Amino acid sequence: MARRHAPTQHHTDVPLVRAVNVTKSFHDNQVLKGIDIDVHAGEVVSLLGPSGSGKTTFLRCINMLESIDGGRIFVDGELMGYEDRGGTLHHLPDKAKAAQRRDIGMVFQRFNLFPHMTAIDNLMEAPVQVKGLSKRDARERATELLDKVGLADKADAYPAQLSGGQQQRVAIARALAMEPKLMLFDEPTSALDPELVGEVLNVMRDLAQAGMTMIVVTHEMSFAREVCDRVVFMDGGVVVEQGDPAQVMVNPQHERTRQFLRRLT
Ligand code: ADP
Repeated sequence: MARRHAPTQHHTDVPLVRAVNVTKSFHDNQVLKGIDIDVHAGEVVSLLGPSGSGKTTFLRCINMLESIDGGRIFVDGELMGYEDRGGTLHHLPDKAKAAQRRDIGMVFQRFNLFPHMTAIDNLMEAPVQVKGLSKRDARERATELLDKVGLADKADAYPAQLSGGQQQRVAIARALAMEPKLMLFDEPTSALDPELVGEVLNVMRDLAQAGMTMIVVTHEMSFAREVCDRVVFMDGGVVVEQGDPAQVMVNPQHERTRQFLRRLT
């Protein structure tokens, strides 16, 4: 499949996400060792790399589900934390954090729907509670989104009545209900039975084609190759190489990337 659009269309000057020398440790285990990544509005970027290389941690840092130890992350020009006069990074107060996170949608490996709510109520919850949308407007938007992910007929179903693929599509629609600027996907298909993977990837593909900015941790190489503008290969807490999917996946420059790709085939 042809990729979505020429890269020149979406390369504005200020990246939507800018990570500068990001470091993060869990106790004495340094998981991120200085990550620099820019993602421009409209770009779809996949993070590839062996298990344990820090991909999920990095994604969680962008969304402030994890705090960083050093470096800087900006989303839409806003620092995800603040610096004092001495340049020390502090974490945002909860209120400011919540305000910034509102613009970032995240989809997890496990679908994380509210189990006691129907699909449509799952979609309406945050727009009503967090954004103060009227129930009527929230329902209208939720109905459109369920239709978009092919689940208009499941509005009143509870998560337990849906397949894993359907639950994940509801989870994507729920994230979209907040009208995020950025969507983060953390291995969204890896908990699914193989026959359900395609329907979720198709929804993500549609979203990419509609121009959403997306960062996707995935092991789905065909998705990375066909849908993403760029792949970023991480290993051992660093970015080993990045670039056009065809270039990095077909003709990798680094031995570590070659080894990783060989193991997949
Ligand atoms: P990947 O997504 O590339 O598989 P992760 O970011 O999940 O990598 O994990 C990188 C490393 O960080 C692993 O060694 C993992 O055990 C460790 N790690 C991740 N989250 C935590 C945590 N909350 N506490 C302690 N160690 C963690």
